[in-house]
Amino acid sequence: MKILVVNAGSSSLKYQLFQLEDDKQDVLASGLCERIGIDGANISHETFEGKTFDLETDMPDHTIAVKLVIDALLSSEHGVLESLEEVNAVGHRVVHGGEKFADSVLIDDEVKAAIKECYPLAPLHNPANIMGIEACEKAMPGIKQVAVFDTAFHQTIPDQAYMYALPYELYEKHAIRRYGFHGTSHKYVSEQAYEMLGDQDAKIITLHLGNGSSIAAIDAGKSVDTSMGMTPLAGVPMGTRCGDIDPAIVTFLIDQENLSTQEVDNLMNKESGFLGVSGVSSDNRDIENAATQGNNRAELVSNMFAYSCKKYIGSYIAALNGVDALVFTAGIGENASTVRANICENLEYLGIKLDPEKNKIRSKDNLEISADDSKVKIFVIRTNEELKIALDTAQLV
Ligand code: ADP
Repeated sequence: MKILVVNAGSSSLKYQLFQLEDDKQDVLASGLCERIGIDGANISHETFEGKTFDLETDMPDHTIAVKLVIDALLSSEHGVLESLEEVNAVGHRVVHGGEKFADSVLIDDEVKAAIKECYPLAPLHNPANIMGIEACEKAMPGIKQVAVFDTAFHQTIPDQAYMYALPYELYEKHAIRRYGFHGTSHKYVSEQAYEMLGDQDAKIITLHLGNGSSIAAIDAGKSVDTSMGMTPLAGVPMGTRCGDIDPAIVTFLIDQENLSTQEVDNLMNKESGFLGVSGVSSDNRDIENAATQGNNRAELVSNMFAYSCKKYIGSYIAALNGVDALVFTAGIGENASTVRANICENLEYLGIKLDPEKNKIRSKDNLEISADDSKVKIFVIRTNEELKIALDTAQLV
């Protein structure tokens, strides 16, 4: 079965074409359209044989971008398909499914209308996701399309954890509540951890630590709490996002710095986190290098990040009434052994003990990095959101 996975942003479109067999999953081709609707648009494409194709060309909208993707996939020089009919279905990453979607779904008019109803909750992402879906509908009529939501996995979170203590009418009127994100990743890595543990009832805390970071508490396969909120701004400090702050700071900034709501939004989403505190970079590798060279603010934000992750682990152990495994994933979680060590430091009381040597092993495979006498297993598991989208899509069609 061949599944095309599409992740459409407002000015970009990432794609991967998967070949799925019973126990084998290959990426036949992948690529990226950038600067859609802007000057200097570009498509870059690569096949499993390492053939590449780059083209700077006009891409006024997502429909044209999808046409260029199809041309690349069908090309006699760098293509991997004889005919478009070989594609069994298209899986789309959709950021916000609101309260409507607790699972992936086949896309029809009703589903599209529900995704559009979530525009106020994800004003940048959902309109872009719809553009990707409608472009594929036009370019590939008759091919089934599936929506896979970032929020769906967290729909099992109970009301005591998803409600904010604001007037209840605001929940009824605007659906203001915690949704959580990175659901596809938390689900994918936790499924792998359940297999490694051989216990489907286990309690797991997954730490997806990348440019955007979120932590989830998972009980017997169900998400019961997560650090991101109504939007991806909440939780631990991130590359450029502030994470949890006293909400009164928002009105304080509006009053004292004369900022507009848009400016505060920009400050908290784009100018904060690793970048805002260090003044160096949003990238963890730059932060680690700067800290090693004695940059105090880089060291500070590094410590703030580890401390915040540690506090989430503690609170989720309380929420779960115990924990059997911690899972580290995404760019930082998979690669930054120092960050993992800082997060796990002084958690022995809770049964969490890292093996410093195992923690240093670099491998493409999933690893167990806990000490032999650690009560709680600690895993490093490679996430693959695109593959999860392809697998969900294949299952639905
Ligand atoms: P995104 O959220 O954009 O998908 P990623 O999951 O790719 O992000 O994570 C990017 C982050 O991972 C960056 O902060 C980067 O510095 C960090 N990272 C990647 N590789 C390493 C490494 N070898 N050591 C430390 N940090 C790393």
